[in-house]
Amino acid sequence: MKLTIVGSGYVGLVTGTCFAEVGHHVTCVDNDEKKVKQLQDGIIPIYEPGLETLVRKNVQLGRLKFTSSIAEGVENGDVIFIAVPTPPQPDGSVDLSYVEKVARSIAEVLTGYRVIVDKSTVPVKTGEKVAETIRRYRKGNVEFDVVSNPEFLREGSAVADLMNPDRIVIGTNGERSAAIMKEVYQPFNAPIMVTDLNSAELIKHASNSFLALKISYINAVAAICEASGADIGKVADGMGADKRIGRDFLYAGLGYGGSCFPKDLSAFIRISEDLGYSFGLLKEVERINADQLDRFLKKMRKALWVFRDKKIGQLGLAFKGNTDDIRSSVGINLALKMMEEGAILKAFDPKAMEKCAISYPKIPLVEDPYEVAKDADALVVATEWNDFKELDWLKIKSLMRTPLVFDGRNLLIPEEMKLLGFEYFSVGR
Ligand code: NAD
Repeated sequence: MKLTIVGSGYVGLVTGTCFAEVGHHVTCVDNDEKKVKQLQDGIIPIYEPGLETLVRKNVQLGRLKFTSSIAEGVENGDVIFIAVPTPPQPDGSVDLSYVEKVARSIAEVLTGYRVIVDKSTVPVKTGEKVAETIRRYRKGNVEFDVVSNPEFLREGSAVADLMNPDRIVIGTNGERSAAIMKEVYQPFNAPIMVTDLNSAELIKHASNSFLALKISYINAVAAICEASGADIGKVADGMGADKRIGRDFLYAGLGYGGSCFPKDLSAFIRISEDLGYSFGLLKEVERINADQLDRFLKKMRKALWVFRDKKIGQLGLAFKGNTDDIRSSVGINLALKMMEEGAILKAFDPKAMEKCAISYPKIPLVEDPYEVAKDADALVVATEWNDFKELDWLKIKSLMRTPLVFDGRNLLIPEEMKLLGFEYFSVGR
């Protein structure tokens, strides 16, 4: 099929590439001309495992191309996916101006029936607004349908998630668009759930909020573990073995960050409020999450006494492992807070340093993970990169001035760290 994706970021680029991989002909549109030029030159502006190979392959096969022209995208796609940002506004509500602008641009160049699919994460009833906008700005009575198709990929495993989704949600009020969308996703061999437009939109916010809730829940239990001497790893294993609960997302740490959970949660609280329901449960999830970094800093302060003039090495800046994304990263907040208190910081991340250098030039970066340990009074693990597990921790200890390790992601094994001679601190154990 001929598909167009508007927005070539983490969602749009990976979605477009995976659609091409299963045989569709895909046009990726982005209004960032620099990004389009990079993509046309074979430079992939984001890091996602496996993505670069698939982009190259599908460009070569002529199934994937990039443009900054929305008219070209609308002309070349029978189905047009909107995958542009939906950032938070200061009051927590969603800034829908990107989606509205794309809807208008599509309407202005629409000449024949198209299915317009919202893949961005949007509040319930946005699809109705998109349809209204297109009706208003289209020329004549050209036909179209609006569909909601929320995306559930996780950064760091986006390609694998897109190629093997748990489910595909298609929200539409029309049979014609439902049939077309089923054809788009037929090669993926995954369960397809067709719902009405509003339900599909709600599924995304309800899912992300529930996942954030699981993280805050386990972080709250971790606090009880610390106070009682229990081990959060064992507690989570015991809980997670119950199929009704499941082990996923029961990992205590510094709390959730990233471009989705914080914004989607506050959006869902706002959406609920606008619809007349006060979602107090989710407000508590936010509070626990914000508290988590403060509690960790308190733990560090207790062990280090003062931050001022202490040399601290930080491993990890990305908001999670396997990505270069630092949007709303707790690791970045942690680095900034330690620096505010006078710590002399050196940080390393396997993939996120380029983005960090651009957005946070004040955070000192080093090119080698062992360099962060050199003469350090303490080391902090802020991102769950598996690479950090593989480091030579004996060498790290020999490089440090005093061997204190604060593991904000429970990445390392306490007994092993103690055997190596570290004073080791983690979360909930
Ligand atoms: P992103 O910032 O990585 O990418 C968005 C892209 O859209 C950028 O390249 C930007 O230049 C482009 N863009 C903005 N306005 C445009 C316009 N008018 N025309 C063409 N291109 C335009 O964002 P993302 O992380 O891919 O997120 C996109 C949406 O998907 C958001 O609603 C987000 O909540 C949702 N989502 C994200 C994830 C994730 O893990 N990142 C997962 C599921 C859903």
